Amino acid sequence: MIIQQDLHLHTHLSLCASPDSSVAKFATAATELGLTAIGISNHYREAGIPGGDPFYEIQNFDHISSEFAEIAAQNTPQLRILRGAEVEYSPEIGDAALSPEHASKLDYVLFTNSHTHLTMPKAYYDDRRKHAHFMLNAYLDMLNGQVADKITAVAHPFAAVCCPYDRDSLLPLISDHEYMQCFRQSAEHDIALEINTDLWSGYKTLPELWNSEMMRIFKLARRCGCRFTFGSDAHRSSSCSSIRVGYLVAAMLELSEQDIKRI
Ligand SMILES: [Zn+2]
Ligand SMILES: [Zn+2]
Repeated sequence: MIIQQDLHLHTHLSLCASPDSSVAKFATAATELGLTAIGISNHYREAGIPGGDPFYEIQNFDHISSEFAEIAAQNTPQLRILRGAEVEYSPEIGDAALSPEHASKLDYVLFTNSHTHLTMPKAYYDDRRKHAHFMLNAYLDMLNGQVADKITAVAHPFAAVCCPYDRDSLLPLISDHEYMQCFRQSAEHDIALEINTDLWSGYKTLPELWNSEMMRIFKLARRCGCRFTFGSDAHRSSSCSSIRVGYLVAAMLELSEQDIKRI
């Protein structure tokens, strides 16, 4: 198994990315890493859905598609550059915040159930079970939603972003049965789980990585027949190199070619 694609990159169009983060810089970094495809997945929330964090006010289709000409210009047979999005969950509509019309204009779609810092009522932080179940419900809503068949992968599944306490402490609060309900349906829809190499780089030692709750739920996903993608979640080109950590995780999960979803 070889990692050929990094499907999770943010250019300056994501408000949280480095201002000089660009398609051209990612193309250079990816070529140095020997990748054959990269995906630009800026933050996304469909315009017109009520509510939502102010962060998402401009992260809509007009905004992210303003870069599509640049992506096309940089695209080569040696390094394909794909038009994607990291799509938010909307509790207001109980679904991924992406219209079928705009989904059809993307090469691939990442969905996230774990941007709880932006989507979850703040009071839920005090009740970790509520916090964990918010992510579970977001995942299930997406699976039953109107663009489920357009979702390529779930970005950093169940890894609560910007969590004020250990985010892995949330993982045992969801039962194996509930995880498997998500993962079996993911396998049926061929919705992959992303091996987010920024997240996995956070485990300091190999035993810590191997024994982590996150590894445990990825093993469950593997048993349910899910496939996997790789993404560095780089917000600047110098961060792309974390993709190498993907080999470590893939080895621990004993992944082979057929377990990898490629675009
Ligand atoms: Zn994310
Ligand atoms: Zn991201």
